[in-house]
Amino acid sequence: MPQQSHTSERIVIVGGGFAGLSSAVRLAQAGLPVTVLEQSKLGYAASTRNQGWLQSGAWFAPHHPQLARLCYDSLQETLQFCPGCVEPGYGSMIYISSSEQSALDGCTQAFEQVGLPYDRLSAIELDQSLPTVAPQQRRSGLRLPDRAFRPEVLLSDLAAAARNSGVEIRSETHVDRLLVEDGAVSGVSVRSQEQIRARMVILAAGTSSGLSFSQLFEPSAGRQSDYQLVNLKTHLRLVRPEVNCDPFCVIDAVGVNHLPHFGTSVFGTSRWKVVAPSDDEQIDADEARLLDAQLDLLFPDGLGADHEVQDWAGTTVQAMHVDQIQPGDAPLPTIIDHSLEPCRVDNVISIFPGRATLWSHLAEKVRVTVLDCLGSRSVETARPPWSVTKP
Ligand SMILES: Cc1cc2nc3c(=O)[nH]c(=O)nc-3n(C[C@H](O)[C@H](O)[C@H](O)COP(=O)(O)OP(=O)(O)OC[C@H]3O[C@@H](n4cnc5c(N)ncnc54)[C@H](O)[C@@H]3O)c2cc1C
Repeated sequence: MPQQSHTSERIVIVGGGFAGLSSAVRLAQAGLPVTVLEQSKLGYAASTRNQGWLQSGAWFAPHHPQLARLCYDSLQETLQFCPGCVEPGYGSMIYISSSEQSALDGCTQAFEQVGLPYDRLSAIELDQSLPTVAPQQRRSGLRLPDRAFRPEVLLSDLAAAARNSGVEIRSETHVDRLLVEDGAVSGVSVRSQEQIRARMVILAAGTSSGLSFSQLFEPSAGRQSDYQLVNLKTHLRLVRPEVNCDPFCVIDAVGVNHLPHFGTSVFGTSRWKVVAPSDDEQIDADEARLLDAQLDLLFPDGLGADHEVQDWAGTTVQAMHVDQIQPGDAPLPTIIDHSLEPCRVDNVISIFPGRATLWSHLAEKVRVTVLDCLGSRSVETARPPWSVTKP
Protein backbone atom coordinates (compact mmCIF):
# COMPACT_ATOMS: atom_id res chain seq x y z
CA MET A 1 0.00 0.00 0.00
CA PRO A 2 1.51 3.36 -0.87
CA GLN A 3 2.13 5.43 2.21
CA GLN A 4 0.70 8.97 2.15
CA SER A 5 2.15 11.99 3.87
CA HIS A 6 1.74 15.75 4.12
CA THR A 7 -1.27 17.87 3.42
CA SER A 8 -2.33 19.23 0.07
CA GLU A 9 -1.33 22.76 1.18
CA ARG A 10 2.32 21.88 0.65
CA ILE A 11 4.49 23.17 -2.20
CA VAL A 12 6.83 20.39 -3.30
CA ILE A 13 10.02 21.37 -5.09
CA VAL A 14 11.82 18.63 -7.02
CA GLY A 15 15.58 19.31 -7.09
CA GLY A 16 17.96 20.85 -4.55
CA GLY A 17 20.24 22.95 -6.79
CA PHE A 18 20.32 26.75 -7.01
CA ALA A 19 16.87 26.93 -8.57
CA GLY A 20 15.13 24.71 -6.01
CA LEU A 21 16.78 26.01 -2.85
CA SER A 22 16.55 29.73 -3.61
CA SER A 23 12.89 29.42 -4.64
CA ALA A 24 12.17 27.44 -1.47
CA VAL A 25 13.45 30.34 0.66
CA ARG A 26 11.18 32.89 -1.00
CA LEU A 27 8.09 30.68 -0.93
CA ALA A 28 8.59 29.84 2.75
CA GLN A 29 9.04 33.54 3.46
CA ALA A 30 5.62 34.05 1.84
CA GLY A 31 4.18 31.72 4.49
CA LEU A 32 3.82 28.60 2.35
CA PRO A 33 4.74 25.14 3.66
CA VAL A 34 7.56 23.94 1.38
CA THR A 35 9.34 20.60 0.94
CA VAL A 36 12.44 20.20 -1.24
CA LEU A 37 13.11 16.67 -2.53
CA GLU A 38 16.61 16.00 -3.82
CA GLN A 39 17.49 12.63 -5.30
CA SER A 40 21.11 12.82 -4.17
CA LYS A 41 23.09 15.36 -2.15
CA LEU A 42 22.10 19.03 -2.42
CA GLY A 43 23.68 20.60 -5.50
CA TYR A 44 24.59 17.19 -6.86
CA ALA A 45 24.28 18.18 -10.54
CA ALA A 46 25.15 21.37 -12.50
CA SER A 47 25.02 23.55 -9.38
CA THR A 48 28.31 22.18 -8.05
CA ARG A 49 29.88 21.03 -11.33
CA ASN A 50 30.14 24.43 -12.94
CA GLN A 51 33.03 26.80 -13.48
CA GLY A 52 32.29 29.04 -10.50
CA TRP A 53 32.04 32.26 -12.49
CA LEU A 54 29.81 34.75 -10.71
CA GLN A 55 29.01 36.89 -13.71
CA SER A 56 28.59 40.67 -13.56
CA GLY A 57 26.70 40.60 -16.86
CA ALA A 58 29.52 42.31 -18.75
CA TRP A 59 29.80 39.32 -21.07
CA PHE A 60 26.18 39.84 -22.17
CA ALA A 61 26.05 43.66 -22.05
CA PRO A 62 26.84 44.41 -25.75
CA HIS A 63 23.99 42.23 -27.08
CA HIS A 64 21.63 41.60 -24.14
CA PRO A 65 21.61 44.66 -21.86
CA GLN A 66 18.55 43.52 -19.86
CA LEU A 67 20.14 40.15 -19.10
CA ALA A 68 23.35 41.95 -18.15
CA ARG A 69 21.45 44.10 -15.66
CA LEU A 70 19.83 41.00 -14.12
CA CYS A 71 23.28 39.43 -13.72
CA TYR A 72 24.65 42.55 -12.05
CA ASP A 73 21.72 42.76 -9.61
CA SER A 74 22.09 39.03 -8.81
CA LEU A 75 25.84 39.44 -8.31
CA GLN A 76 25.26 42.20 -5.76
CA GLU A 77 22.61 40.10 -3.98
CA THR A 78 24.98 37.13 -3.89
CA LEU A 79 27.76 39.24 -2.35
CA GLN A 80 25.28 40.65 0.20
CA PHE A 81 23.87 37.25 1.18
CA CYS A 82 26.99 35.11 1.12
CA PRO A 83 30.24 37.09 0.97
CA GLY A 84 32.05 33.90 2.00
CA CYS A 85 31.21 32.23 -1.32
CA VAL A 86 33.74 34.44 -3.13
CA GLU A 87 37.06 32.62 -3.58
CA PRO A 88 39.30 34.26 -1.01
CA GLY A 89 42.56 35.85 -2.14
CA TYR A 90 41.58 36.48 -5.77
CA GLY A 91 40.57 39.76 -7.39
CA SER A 92 37.73 40.64 -9.72
CA MET A 93 37.74 39.74 -13.39
CA ILE A 94 39.84 41.31 -16.13
CA TYR A 95 38.35 41.39 -19.62
CA ILE A 96 41.22 41.41 -22.12
CA SER A 97 41.61 41.84 -25.84
CA SER A 98 44.52 41.13 -28.17
CA SER A 99 43.65 44.27 -30.15
CA GLU A 100 44.32 47.84 -29.03
CA GLN A 101 41.48 49.75 -27.36
CA SER A 102 38.89 49.50 -30.16
CA ALA A 103 37.24 46.17 -29.25
CA LEU A 104 36.91 46.99 -25.59
CA ASP A 105 35.80 50.54 -26.37
CA GLY A 106 32.73 49.06 -28.05
CA CYS A 107 32.00 47.22 -24.80
CA THR A 108 32.42 50.18 -22.49
CA GLN A 109 29.46 51.98 -24.04
CA ALA A 110 27.34 48.91 -23.32
CA PHE A 111 28.68 48.70 -19.73
CA GLU A 112 27.78 52.33 -19.15
CA GLN A 113 24.27 51.84 -20.52
CA VAL A 114 23.72 48.89 -18.16
CA GLY A 115 25.34 50.71 -15.22
CA LEU A 116 28.24 48.29 -14.83
CA PRO A 117 31.26 49.80 -13.09
CA TYR A 118 34.60 49.16 -14.82
CA ASP A 119 38.21 50.32 -14.57
CA ARG A 120 40.49 50.68 -17.53
CA LEU A 121 43.86 49.02 -16.83
CA SER A 122 47.16 50.50 -17.97
CA ALA A 123 49.85 48.36 -19.61
CA ILE A 124 51.74 48.33 -16.29
CA GLU A 125 48.65 47.18 -14.37
CA LEU A 126 48.06 44.43 -16.94
CA ASP A 127 51.69 43.32 -16.54
CA GLN A 128 51.25 43.14 -12.78
CA SER A 129 47.84 41.43 -12.79
CA LEU A 130 48.39 38.96 -15.63
CA PRO A 131 52.16 38.36 -15.56
CA THR A 132 51.95 34.85 -17.03
CA VAL A 133 49.71 35.79 -20.00
CA ALA A 134 51.46 36.61 -23.30
CA PRO A 135 51.56 40.43 -23.69
CA GLN A 136 50.26 40.27 -27.28
CA GLN A 137 47.08 38.56 -25.97
CA ARG A 138 46.39 41.34 -23.46
CA ARG A 139 47.02 44.56 -25.34
CA SER A 140 44.06 46.18 -23.58
CA GLY A 141 42.10 45.32 -20.47
CA LEU A 142 39.22 46.37 -18.23
CA ARG A 143 38.47 45.24 -14.69
CA LEU A 144 34.84 44.35 -13.95
CA PRO A 145 33.09 43.06 -10.80
CA ASP A 146 32.75 39.37 -11.86
CA ARG A 147 34.24 37.03 -9.23
CA ALA A 148 35.33 33.43 -8.86
CA PHE A 149 32.87 31.86 -6.40
CA ARG A 150 32.50 28.60 -4.51
CA PRO A 151 29.10 27.16 -5.46
CA GLU A 152 29.05 24.70 -2.56
CA VAL A 153 29.40 27.53 -0.01
CA LEU A 154 26.52 29.49 -1.54
CA LEU A 155 24.35 26.35 -1.73
CA SER A 156 25.06 25.52 1.89
CA ASP A 157 23.99 29.05 2.96
CA LEU A 158 20.86 28.83 0.82
CA ALA A 159 19.98 25.49 2.42
CA ALA A 160 20.49 27.02 5.89
CA ALA A 161 18.30 30.02 4.99
CA ALA A 162 15.64 27.63 3.67
CA ARG A 163 15.66 25.55 6.86
CA ASN A 164 15.54 28.70 8.99
CA SER A 165 12.45 29.78 7.07
CA GLY A 166 10.79 26.45 7.83
CA VAL A 167 11.52 24.52 4.62
CA GLU A 168 11.71 20.74 4.94
CA ILE A 169 14.67 19.43 2.91
CA ARG A 170 14.90 15.75 2.12
CA SER A 171 18.01 14.58 0.28
CA GLU A 172 18.47 11.04 -1.14
CA THR A 173 14.79 11.21 -2.15
CA HIS A 174 14.20 10.51 -5.82
CA VAL A 175 10.87 11.60 -7.29
CA ASP A 176 9.61 8.87 -9.64
CA ARG A 177 6.55 10.50 -11.04
CA LEU A 178 3.92 13.15 -10.69
CA LEU A 179 0.51 12.22 -9.31
CA VAL A 180 -2.07 13.62 -11.75
CA GLU A 181 -5.81 13.67 -11.08
CA ASP A 182 -8.33 15.25 -13.48
CA GLY A 183 -5.65 17.16 -15.38
CA ALA A 184 -4.06 18.59 -12.24
CA VAL A 185 -0.99 17.54 -10.28
CA SER A 186 -1.87 16.51 -6.73
CA GLY A 187 1.56 15.42 -5.53
CA VAL A 188 4.54 13.22 -6.28
CA SER A 189 5.54 9.63 -5.76
CA VAL A 190 9.03 8.93 -4.44
CA ARG A 191 11.14 5.83 -4.90
CA SER A 192 10.29 4.42 -1.50
CA GLN A 193 6.66 4.17 -2.70
CA GLU A 194 5.72 7.11 -0.54
CA GLN A 195 3.21 9.55 -1.99
CA ILE A 196 3.56 13.18 -1.02
CA ARG A 197 0.48 15.30 -1.59
CA ALA A 198 0.99 18.85 -2.78
CA ARG A 199 -1.01 21.91 -3.68
CA MET A 200 1.57 22.64 -6.30
CA VAL A 201 4.74 20.98 -7.62
CA ILE A 202 7.76 22.92 -8.86
CA LEU A 203 10.20 21.04 -11.06
CA ALA A 204 13.72 22.34 -10.48
CA ALA A 205 15.34 19.15 -11.74
CA GLY A 206 17.80 20.67 -14.25
CA THR A 207 18.68 18.43 -17.19
CA SER A 208 16.46 15.65 -15.73
CA SER A 209 13.31 17.79 -16.13
CA GLY A 210 12.63 16.89 -19.75
CA LEU A 211 13.66 13.24 -19.39
CA SER A 212 12.03 12.27 -16.12
CA PHE A 213 8.84 14.30 -16.57
CA SER A 214 8.52 14.00 -20.35
CA GLN A 215 4.69 13.97 -20.31
CA LEU A 216 4.83 17.70 -19.54
CA PHE A 217 7.03 18.50 -22.52
CA GLU A 218 5.47 16.30 -25.21
CA PRO A 219 4.08 18.02 -28.32
CA SER A 220 0.38 17.66 -29.00
CA ALA A 221 -1.53 17.85 -32.29
CA GLY A 222 -2.65 21.35 -33.14
CA ARG A 223 -1.02 23.00 -30.09
CA GLN A 224 2.33 24.65 -30.27
CA SER A 225 4.59 24.80 -27.23
CA ASP A 226 6.03 28.21 -26.33
CA TYR A 227 9.22 26.63 -25.01
CA GLN A 228 11.89 24.21 -26.05
CA LEU A 229 14.35 22.56 -23.66
CA VAL A 230 17.87 22.72 -25.08
CA ASN A 231 20.66 20.73 -23.45
CA LEU A 232 23.99 22.51 -23.68
CA LYS A 233 27.40 21.04 -23.05
CA THR A 234 30.65 22.85 -22.37
CA HIS A 235 34.22 21.77 -21.66
CA LEU A 236 36.44 22.83 -18.81
CA ARG A 237 40.11 22.31 -17.98
CA LEU A 238 41.52 22.34 -14.48
CA VAL A 239 45.20 23.17 -14.10
CA ARG A 240 47.04 22.70 -10.80
CA PRO A 241 48.77 24.78 -9.46
CA GLU A 242 47.03 27.94 -10.66
CA VAL A 243 48.64 29.80 -13.55
CA ASN A 244 47.38 33.26 -12.59
CA CYS A 245 45.77 34.82 -9.54
CA ASP A 246 43.17 37.07 -11.16
CA PRO A 247 40.23 35.71 -13.11
CA PHE A 248 40.23 36.86 -16.73
CA CYS A 249 38.38 36.34 -19.97
CA VAL A 250 39.32 37.07 -23.56
CA ILE A 251 36.62 38.92 -25.45
CA ASP A 252 38.03 37.91 -28.88
CA ALA A 253 37.49 34.62 -30.76
CA VAL A 254 36.07 31.75 -28.66
CA GLY A 255 36.07 33.75 -25.44
CA VAL A 256 38.45 31.63 -23.43
CA ASN A 257 38.11 32.36 -19.72
CA HIS A 258 39.98 31.60 -16.50
CA LEU A 259 38.60 31.23 -12.98
CA PRO A 260 41.03 30.57 -10.13
CA HIS A 261 39.79 28.22 -7.38
CA PHE A 262 41.83 27.40 -4.30
CA GLY A 263 45.22 26.90 -5.93
CA THR A 264 43.85 25.72 -9.28
CA SER A 265 42.92 27.43 -12.55
CA VAL A 266 39.73 26.42 -14.36
CA PHE A 267 39.65 27.33 -18.04
CA GLY A 268 36.59 27.31 -20.29
CA THR A 269 35.33 28.91 -23.48
CA SER A 270 32.09 30.64 -24.37
CA ARG A 271 31.17 27.65 -26.55
CA TRP A 272 28.05 25.68 -25.62
CA LYS A 273 27.25 22.74 -27.87
CA VAL A 274 23.64 21.55 -28.26
CA VAL A 275 23.49 17.87 -27.26
CA ALA A 276 20.85 15.16 -26.91
CA PRO A 277 19.25 14.97 -23.44
CA SER A 278 20.82 11.57 -22.83
CA ASP A 279 24.30 12.74 -23.84
CA ASP A 280 26.93 11.71 -21.31
CA GLU A 281 29.63 13.97 -19.94
CA GLN A 282 32.44 12.56 -22.09
CA ILE A 283 35.27 14.82 -23.19
CA ASP A 284 34.92 15.89 -26.80
CA ALA A 285 38.38 15.64 -28.45
CA ASP A 286 37.72 18.70 -30.68
CA GLU A 287 36.88 20.86 -27.67
CA ALA A 288 39.98 19.65 -25.84
CA ARG A 289 42.12 20.56 -28.88
CA LEU A 290 40.50 23.98 -29.01
CA LEU A 291 41.42 24.57 -25.36
CA ASP A 292 44.98 23.37 -26.12
CA ALA A 293 45.26 25.91 -28.95
CA GLN A 294 43.85 28.77 -26.84
CA LEU A 295 46.18 28.03 -23.93
CA ASP A 296 49.15 27.84 -26.33
CA LEU A 297 48.31 31.38 -27.46
CA LEU A 298 47.90 32.69 -23.91
CA PHE A 299 50.92 30.85 -22.48
CA PRO A 300 53.38 30.32 -25.40
CA ASP A 301 56.09 29.14 -22.99
CA GLY A 302 53.77 26.40 -21.72
CA LEU A 303 52.37 25.87 -18.24
CA GLY A 304 55.47 24.22 -16.85
CA ALA A 305 56.34 20.53 -16.49
CA ASP A 306 54.98 20.16 -12.96
CA HIS A 307 51.42 21.17 -13.85
CA GLU A 308 48.63 18.66 -13.47
CA VAL A 309 45.84 18.95 -16.06
CA GLN A 310 42.36 17.49 -15.87
CA ASP A 311 39.52 18.01 -18.39
CA TRP A 312 35.84 17.56 -17.78
CA ALA A 313 32.58 18.38 -19.53
CA GLY A 314 29.21 19.27 -18.09
CA THR A 315 25.67 19.72 -19.33
CA THR A 316 23.04 22.23 -18.38
CA VAL A 317 19.61 22.97 -19.79
CA GLN A 318 18.19 26.16 -21.22
CA ALA A 319 14.43 26.63 -21.55
CA MET A 320 14.15 28.68 -24.71
CA HIS A 321 11.11 30.77 -25.48
CA VAL A 322 10.03 30.80 -29.15
CA ASP A 323 11.34 34.39 -29.43
CA GLN A 324 14.88 33.42 -28.50
CA ILE A 325 17.22 32.77 -31.38
CA GLN A 326 20.50 31.21 -30.39
CA PRO A 327 20.95 28.44 -27.77
CA GLY A 328 23.53 29.49 -25.18
CA ASP A 329 23.34 33.10 -26.31
CA ALA A 330 21.00 34.59 -23.72
CA PRO A 331 20.42 32.18 -20.83
CA LEU A 332 17.41 33.84 -19.23
CA PRO A 333 15.76 32.63 -16.03
CA THR A 334 12.58 30.94 -17.23
CA ILE A 335 9.38 29.58 -15.70
CA ILE A 336 7.10 27.27 -17.66
CA ASP A 337 3.51 27.06 -16.46
CA HIS A 338 2.38 23.68 -17.78
CA SER A 339 -1.30 24.60 -17.62
CA LEU A 340 -0.60 26.92 -20.58
CA GLU A 341 1.44 24.38 -22.55
CA PRO A 342 0.13 21.67 -24.92
CA CYS A 343 -0.08 19.11 -22.06
CA ARG A 344 -2.46 21.42 -20.10
CA VAL A 345 -1.60 20.09 -16.66
CA ASP A 346 -2.48 22.35 -13.72
CA ASN A 347 -0.55 22.92 -10.48
CA VAL A 348 2.90 22.30 -11.88
CA ILE A 349 5.60 24.64 -13.14
CA SER A 350 9.18 24.02 -14.31
CA ILE A 351 11.92 26.49 -13.46
CA PHE A 352 15.35 27.14 -15.00
CA PRO A 353 17.85 29.76 -13.80
CA GLY A 354 19.75 30.00 -17.12
CA ARG A 355 22.97 30.55 -15.14
CA ALA A 356 23.76 29.84 -11.49
CA THR A 357 24.53 33.57 -11.21
CA LEU A 358 20.83 34.36 -11.74
CA TRP A 359 19.50 32.33 -8.78
CA SER A 360 18.11 35.30 -6.80
CA HIS A 361 16.27 36.71 -9.78
CA LEU A 362 14.70 33.33 -10.54
CA ALA A 363 13.61 32.91 -6.89
CA GLU A 364 11.75 36.21 -6.99
CA LYS A 365 10.06 35.32 -10.27
CA VAL A 366 8.99 31.98 -8.80
CA ARG A 367 7.50 33.64 -5.72
CA VAL A 368 5.40 36.01 -7.85
CA THR A 369 4.29 33.22 -10.23
CA VAL A 370 3.33 30.79 -7.46
CA LEU A 371 1.39 33.37 -5.45
CA ASP A 372 -0.36 34.34 -8.67
CA CYS A 373 -1.25 30.72 -9.48
CA LEU A 374 -2.57 30.25 -5.94
CA GLY A 375 -4.58 33.45 -6.18
CA SER A 376 -2.72 35.04 -3.25
CA ARG A 377 -0.82 37.77 -5.02
CA SER A 378 -1.18 40.31 -2.22
CA VAL A 379 0.49 38.14 0.45
CA GLU A 380 3.09 40.18 2.31
CA THR A 381 6.50 38.56 2.10
CA ALA A 382 9.51 39.48 4.19
CA ARG A 383 12.46 40.96 2.30
CA PRO A 384 14.78 38.26 0.99
CA PRO A 385 17.92 37.76 3.10
CA TRP A 386 19.91 38.76 0.01
CA SER A 387 18.18 42.13 -0.48
CA VAL A 388 20.60 45.00 -1.12
CA THR A 389 17.97 47.71 -0.78
CA LYS A 390 17.43 49.31 2.65
CA PRO A 391 14.00 48.67 4.25
C1 LIG B 1 30.13 22.79 -17.08
C2 LIG B 1 29.24 23.91 -16.63
C3 LIG B 1 29.78 25.13 -16.28
C4 LIG B 1 28.96 26.15 -15.84
N1 LIG B 1 29.52 27.30 -15.40
C5 LIG B 1 28.74 28.26 -14.85
C6 LIG B 1 29.36 29.39 -14.25
O1 LIG B 1 30.57 29.50 -14.18
N2 LIG B 1 28.53 30.37 -13.75
C7 LIG B 1 27.17 30.25 -13.78
O2 LIG B 1 26.49 31.17 -13.32
N3 LIG B 1 26.57 29.14 -14.31
C8 LIG B 1 27.31 28.16 -14.82
N4 LIG B 1 26.74 27.02 -15.32
C9 LIG B 1 25.27 26.89 -15.30
C10 LIG B 1 24.75 26.55 -13.90
O3 LIG B 1 25.57 25.57 -13.30
C11 LIG B 1 23.31 26.05 -13.99
O4 LIG B 1 22.54 27.00 -14.68
C12 LIG B 1 22.67 25.89 -12.61
O5 LIG B 1 23.50 25.21 -11.71
C13 LIG B 1 21.37 25.12 -12.76
O6 LIG B 1 20.80 24.98 -11.47
P1 LIG B 1 19.50 24.11 -11.27
O7 LIG B 1 19.16 24.16 -9.83
O8 LIG B 1 18.45 24.52 -12.25
O9 LIG B 1 19.90 22.64 -11.76
P2 LIG B 1 20.83 21.54 -11.10
O10 LIG B 1 21.97 22.10 -10.36
O11 LIG B 1 21.13 20.58 -12.19
O12 LIG B 1 19.90 20.89 -10.03
C14 LIG B 1 18.89 19.95 -10.32
C15 LIG B 1 18.76 19.04 -9.12
O13 LIG B 1 17.63 18.22 -9.28
C16 LIG B 1 17.94 16.93 -8.79
N5 LIG B 1 17.00 16.00 -9.42
C17 LIG B 1 16.93 15.67 -10.74
N6 LIG B 1 15.93 14.78 -10.93
C18 LIG B 1 15.38 14.54 -9.73
C19 LIG B 1 14.32 13.70 -9.29
N7 LIG B 1 13.63 12.93 -10.14
N8 LIG B 1 14.02 13.67 -7.97
C20 LIG B 1 14.71 14.46 -7.08
N9 LIG B 1 15.73 15.26 -7.44
C21 LIG B 1 16.04 15.32 -8.76
C22 LIG B 1 19.40 16.73 -9.20
O14 LIG B 1 20.04 15.74 -8.42
C23 LIG B 1 19.97 18.11 -8.96
O15 LIG B 1 20.55 18.27 -7.68
C24 LIG B 1 27.54 25.97 -15.77
C25 LIG B 1 26.99 24.74 -16.13
C26 LIG B 1 27.83 23.72 -16.55
C27 LIG B 1 27.22 22.40 -16.90
